[in-house]
Amino acid sequence: MKKTIALIAHDNLKDTMVDWVLANKHIIEKFNLWATGTTGKRINEASGLPVHCLKSGPLGGDQQIGAGIAEGKVDAVIFFWDPLAPHPHDVDVKALLRIAVVYDIPMACNKASAELMIQSFK
Ligand code: PGA
Repeated sequence: MKKTIALIAHDNLKDTMVDWVLANKHIIEKFNLWATGTTGKRINEASGLPVHCLKSGPLGGDQQIGAGIAEGKVDAVIFFWDPLAPHPHDVDVKALLRIAVVYDIPMACNKASAELMIQSFK
């Protein structure tokens, strides 16, 4: 059965996420993709990959991914969060980081970690 990767990128890192997905499309296309709203839309438009788009992060998308982890529906998370900008949904971000650790889900929070993770998925 296909595993599911959740993808999230804060605004300043959406271009980075899209470029990263395009560069790794041959690996990423083997997975089901979930993403927060805007991130998922950008990825779909750029890559043509099907993406299950949740709500936008500030409107609950991070929490939906957290629920997916708790329900065993999400197997890995790639989350390019922006450490240099304030976010209205900061508590949701923190909750997502926590629940990924609780369920021992692989989570990459920057491009270097995402590279390592995706190589292990080859
Ligand atoms: P977005 O949400 O993909 O809808 O922009 C990401 C976030 O800000 O958490």
